[in-house]
Amino acid sequence: MEKIIDEHKQGEALTLERKLENSKKLFIESYGCQMNFADSEVVASILANEGYNTTQNLEEADLVLVNTCSIREKAEVTVRKRLEKYQAVKRKRNPTMKVGVLGCMAERLKSKFLEEEKIVDLVVGPDAYKDIPNLLSEVEEGRDAVNVILSKEETYGDISPVRLQTNGVTAFVSITRGCDNMCTFCVVPFTRGRERSRDPQSILEEVQDLANRGFKEITLLGQNVDSYLWYGGGLKKDFDKASEMAKATAVNFAQLMDMVARAQPKMRIRFSTSNPQDMTLDVIEVMASHKNICNYIHLPVQSGSDRILKLMNRQHTVAEYKTLIDNIKNLIPDIGISQDMITGFPTETEEDHQGTLDLIDYVKYDYGFMFYYSERPGTLAERKMEDDIPLEIKKRRLQDVIDLQREISRKNLLRYQDQTIEVLIEKESKKNKDEWSGRNDQNVVAVFPKGDYKVGEFVNVKVNECTTGTLIGEAVGYADYWYNNVD
Ligand code: SAM
Repeated sequence: MEKIIDEHKQGEALTLERKLENSKKLFIESYGCQMNFADSEVVASILANEGYNTTQNLEEADLVLVNTCSIREKAEVTVRKRLEKYQAVKRKRNPTMKVGVLGCMAERLKSKFLEEEKIVDLVVGPDAYKDIPNLLSEVEEGRDAVNVILSKEETYGDISPVRLQTNGVTAFVSITRGCDNMCTFCVVPFTRGRERSRDPQSILEEVQDLANRGFKEITLLGQNVDSYLWYGGGLKKDFDKASEMAKATAVNFAQLMDMVARAQPKMRIRFSTSNPQDMTLDVIEVMASHKNICNYIHLPVQSGSDRILKLMNRQHTVAEYKTLIDNIKNLIPDIGISQDMITGFPTETEEDHQGTLDLIDYVKYDYGFMFYYSERPGTLAERKMEDDIPLEIKKRRLQDVIDLQREISRKNLLRYQDQTIEVLIEKESKKNKDEWSGRNDQNVVAVFPKGDYKVGEFVNVKVNECTTGTLIGEAVGYADYWYNNVD
């Protein structure tokens, strides 16, 4: 009996200890690419083990972390403003609050934040998140803490991410880290290191876990997913040195996607981002052979001029890109395609710019992410080329590109008029609380009256109206495939 009481007391003490442990509050914000949002979920998981719960309220946070982006100067300016905000809150309301910078800016600016600017307590690069608990101990002892070491192996494959601000329906699953492409404009290889792929087994397990928890759609994520190659671990560039056995049993992106699609026939599968130089026909064939792999490809090209593509160190010509697009459209006629474009790269002429407009017109993309060139410190373009296109010309060319893309996007959407499309319900429409919002296979947003349908259900939606970016319709029943015809 005594033993039972003792155990009971011990149990109570343990619960109290856990509660106290769990009373620490983490406020975490992410800027930039989807990888950053996925990384923050890894960080939240690491810190949950240290007793941190996430909060949406900055003022009550014990620890504030900002996951940062360096891709363009503007992204860095935004983060700097947030750091000023944290400083103000710390000064006025919460002096014991600790502030940390994560991700690409941490990697790029390293200890500058701590030593020169003295505005943060810890600085953690994208491959050092497992070290955060140690770094926090350093901070507790009054020392500045920094770890920006880039890794050859780290993929966080062993960490089960805490889903932040989740709709419970869609989730990101990281499959590669880093990038080897060395596009001359891009800071990513310097901030995120060399490319490495994650063990397919751990990917399948994470996806299974999401399926068990009711998630309906996953996006396989990487800077360059088509380049995925698992051969037992290590950098992609070291594949040549692998054993014959490792090479023979290696898993590439097409195989990985096939494995995931087969394992989860009731889940929708997306992927991002593709690089044209690494996208092979077998990837498109796998997409075409699985109903549950969405017919949507985000395929950045950056420019429609061979001369500029060469200067950017993109490993393909405009003609090769067009052939790839033709192949994709032949194999998957109802594909949705989006692009990334950069205007005003060094030396870009009006003729080069016209090439970009012509390419957009040729491909007739459904959507685009368009930017004017922003010189990034440390990149080859910054070191070897003069940023010689005046800002107003960069911006004017960007506007040309945006205008053309908008017009094409609007025309493309008309193909859905009066059609019935399958939509996965994700959330309430921002504009109308009586409507659901979701996306179709091709990643187009559709809104429609809620009826008796629920978030996470696949429904057939009859499209009554096409606006610039959204389809407006009405649900006409459940989507057959997801409930019946599962292969
Ligand atoms: N890995 C993808 C690729 O290059 O095919 C894209 C990754 S990057 C995170 C996202 C986009 O940001 C790029 O496709 C490019 O259009 C844009 N970007 C990257 N560096 C830029 C720069 N220095 N100036 C303007 N835009 C940039």
